[in-house]
Amino acid sequence: MIIGERIIQAAKEAVIGASSRFREDQLQAYYKALEIEEDEKSKWVLKQNIENALLASLNHSPICDDTGIPHIVLSIGNDEVVPGKIQSYIQQGIKEGLAELPGRPMAVIGNEMERLGQTLGMYDDPSKLEAAPVLLMEHQGKGIKITVLMLGGGPEIRGKTYRVFHKHDGQNVINEVIGWIKEGVSKLGCTPAVPFVGIGRTHFEASSYMLRAMYEANFNHQTDIEQQIVTEINKENVGSLGLGGNITSLGAFVRIAPQRASGVRIVSMRLGCSIDPRRHSVCLE
Ligand code: SF4
Repeated sequence: MIIGERIIQAAKEAVIGASSRFREDQLQAYYKALEIEEDEKSKWVLKQNIENALLASLNHSPICDDTGIPHIVLSIGNDEVVPGKIQSYIQQGIKEGLAELPGRPMAVIGNEMERLGQTLGMYDDPSKLEAAPVLLMEHQGKGIKITVLMLGGGPEIRGKTYRVFHKHDGQNVINEVIGWIKEGVSKLGCTPAVPFVGIGRTHFEASSYMLRAMYEANFNHQTDIEQQIVTEINKENVGSLGLGGNITSLGAFVRIAPQRASGVRIVSMRLGCSIDPRRHSVCLE
């Protein structure tokens, strides 16, 4: 069995990694966008984003001031035995990672209503920020994989989870999502955007498939549906930071859950920003 201290260290490493570096496929998507972008101002922004990410990686410092809310995906090998306190160990690692990074102090003080109204302000300590509920996955063999995703605020404002009537054609669902994205992308600010979409039978399922899209996202692999979404968004000519140009989206990621006999599909769309997905995984054996 993997001991607690290793799990704490892995979760800490995952939170710092997710917050401070672009993955290789993300960097490649940026370099590809630089080749295609024709607008000089947007080109300049793309270059700045790359430079910012490389410097953050070098210094282990946050890519963005909005360090975001940690979301954890835990994959457990079907041959592995895990300690009962595994969630507590992961939370401890997240705490230590946020303190070391440091994350932006964002935990709100008070009881339920005080937190809702933010009437008592916030804690100065970045490690007071609690992670969102864990998404559990399984893989073959032994070991565990701890993945941390950091979700910033702008994409939450422009995201949406709602029902869509398919009218017996899946394309109607995709068209509706494209409409949502087009509506939000010029207001996002930190473009190019990276939309993540989950489609399920319930709001919970749709949201968890949206998170799964973030977890599995690889800019080197785009399905026909994802490519269609990107092509449509790029027609908006929002460019980088809204300055105009032919790259408004670096990529899109869609995950479709089992569906139910019904006229309605529940769709969760998170309009990710120019640094999404902020993700890092650590595997333990
Ligand atoms: S939208 Fe993204 S890049 Fe912009 S401030 Fe928020 S997290 Fe940072």
